[in-house]
Amino acid sequence: MVVELACLDLEGVLIPEIWIKFAEKTGIDALKATTRDIPDYDELMTMRLRELAKHRLGLKEIQQVIATLSPLDGAGEFVDWLRERFQVIILSDTFYEFAGPLMKQLGYPTLLCHRLRVGAGGEISGYDMRQANPKRQAIVAFKSLYYRTIAAGDSYNDTTMLAEADAGILFKAPRNVIEQFPQYPAVHSYAELRAAFLRASVRDLSP
Ligand SMILES: [Mg+2]
Repeated sequence: MVVELACLDLEGVLIPEIWIKFAEKTGIDALKATTRDIPDYDELMTMRLRELAKHRLGLKEIQQVIATLSPLDGAGEFVDWLRERFQVIILSDTFYEFAGPLMKQLGYPTLLCHRLRVGAGGEISGYDMRQANPKRQAIVAFKSLYYRTIAAGDSYNDTTMLAEADAGILFKAPRNVIEQFPQYPAVHSYAELRAAFLRASVRDLSP
């Protein structure tokens, strides 16, 4: 029997973009940039940490903003629907230190992401990537376990995951990503995403 994994990006798919929310709250425009704008993740994170240091903001200030956030409308119901039909794994470029409260609201699906280095005074001094090219490598690993994988994401940092998966889906992706990756179906609502997962599955699943 084929067992299928549903591999989901987190930010922009199930929860808001944490850094954008933090940028809005603090008024620091540079922190609005995401992997949609700067595809090189290390370049993006280096810029973010420099801005935090410049404004003397640390983990506590970011966590205070995260505590006010909720999953996107309909995300909880979508995850529940998906978990009845697939083994669900979240592959994210966020950090465990950020994701906790939001994962609680989603019923704690399995999350593979990165870790922050935090100094004694709460300042974020760096970060440890789980591994290089983490989303793609997770798919490679699942395939080595003989799972079939269907992946969905919204941004540049998801495209190697979509390419490696047996099937890839773009969800709420910006136009430039959709145009650069026309090989993936692009959907914009959870109803459409459910339908896309059913189409991508090789099993006979009820809608
Ligand atoms: Mg995303």
